[in-house]
Amino acid sequence: MYKDGFTYEGGRVLQCDAFSETGLVKHGFSTKKKGTSTGIFSSLNLGVHTKDCRENVEQNFSLFCEALSIDSSHLVLSQQVHGTAIYRAGLKDCGKGLYRESDLQEIDGLVTNEPGVALATFYADCTPILFLDPVQKVIASVHSGWRGTVQKIAQWAVMTMMREYGCNSEQILVAMGPSIKQCHFEVDEDVYLEFLLHFHGMAEKSTIKKNGKYYIDTDALNIYSLLQMGISQEHIHTCNLCTYCNEELFFSHRRDGETGRMCAVIELQ
Ligand SMILES: [Zn+2]
Repeated sequence: MYKDGFTYEGGRVLQCDAFSETGLVKHGFSTKKKGTSTGIFSSLNLGVHTKDCRENVEQNFSLFCEALSIDSSHLVLSQQVHGTAIYRAGLKDCGKGLYRESDLQEIDGLVTNEPGVALATFYADCTPILFLDPVQKVIASVHSGWRGTVQKIAQWAVMTMMREYGCNSEQILVAMGPSIKQCHFEVDEDVYLEFLLHFHGMAEKSTIKKNGKYYIDTDALNIYSLLQMGISQEHIHTCNLCTYCNEELFFSHRRDGETGRMCAVIELQ
């Protein structure tokens, strides 16, 4: 069993202990294990827009949701574009993107205070970030690739929770799931400059330079962004599993090229 503030028992999902302990939400980060897809999508591919057979993807959603006791008809999917738009989802959005047409375009973060709405975001190296305010009972799910990290989408999510739902950032719990870590997040100078521009001194501190390449610790930068919003350090839980390193557990776009997608989901009970 994997333990680092996160529990993994070998199946389809990994969960953050701090979130589980509240008893307020169903949540999880998917692995690629124990699904029905084959070939490059083997096996728990949850990417609706991949070239995988639709029937297998829907079957995989059923298996993933079953592991979390979530009703798959509660899922809300949006089209992600590495932007910073946060959408306030509700019961009216359930099923969008999976069982019916979705009008949720160019949205990388979902937030709600309605029980029974399962907020889903998708990854194959980018950082999935889940939020829970256990006092106001508000949740969010955010897709933070390097562009989202640079544009501080995590801060946009916190700001939405505070402004629209009256959350106090000191109460908010954060779970950052598996993603490509510093060991494999190699970038050229142009991308490094983007980080320098947006994070000033922090980018240098979070980067290792080797053979003309830059290896950036995006978790450290997302944590920095969250601390700036008044989130408590002890409320931020980071899974240190690298999607690239752990081939048996995760899809990795950087490692595999065309591949499947993992999902992070959260629903208020
Ligand atoms: Zn790695």
